[in-house]
Amino acid sequence: MRRAIYPGSFDPVTNGHLDVIERARKLFDEVVVAVAHNDQKQPLFTLAERLDFLGQVTASLAGVKVAPLDGLLVEFAVQQNAHAVVRGLRAVSDFEFEFQMALMNRKLEATVETIFLMPKEEYTYLSSRIVKEIARLGGDVGKFVPPCVVESFARKLQR
Ligand code: ADP
Repeated sequence: MRRAIYPGSFDPVTNGHLDVIERARKLFDEVVVAVAHNDQKQPLFTLAERLDFLGQVTASLAGVKVAPLDGLLVEFAVQQNAHAVVRGLRAVSDFEFEFQMALMNRKLEATVETIFLMPKEEYTYLSSRIVKEIARLGGDVGKFVPPCVVESFARKLQR
């Protein structure tokens, strides 16, 4: 059983994240999407909401599980018996931080390998941060996030 962890804040999940999940699923028997609490980033959506969106949008994908992530990623990977961490790379700007994190994780736990996947070109400009900004300013985010997230934005931002 080849299992990978795909960690992130997913605040909220976007179509870019979904593209990475589907690509990872082609390489691994099971992909565990690990949703970080990430209080430092002051998320717009609660952990429960972020888990719920991911649960809904991955329900039809066999071999994809969703779980909360608290604590060290590599420890979670070992607990889950996973040997890979998947991260998405959109542009060179992602690289420096991702490279540092991958090498630090390797120092912490040598059995866990980090794999980078590139999304479809049309998702390379997409980030949760930019989607939140568009939604706050009243823009239509329907092309960028799944329908359950669009509805939740409308409720949260009271439109
Ligand atoms: P984090 O807060 O850990 O960066 P994110 O939820 O923003 O978490 O992203 C999780 C992972 O998904 C990261 O590896 C990020 O680079 C990747 N990612 C985010 N958006 C996209 C996208 N549009 N295409 C490909 N990968 C993406």
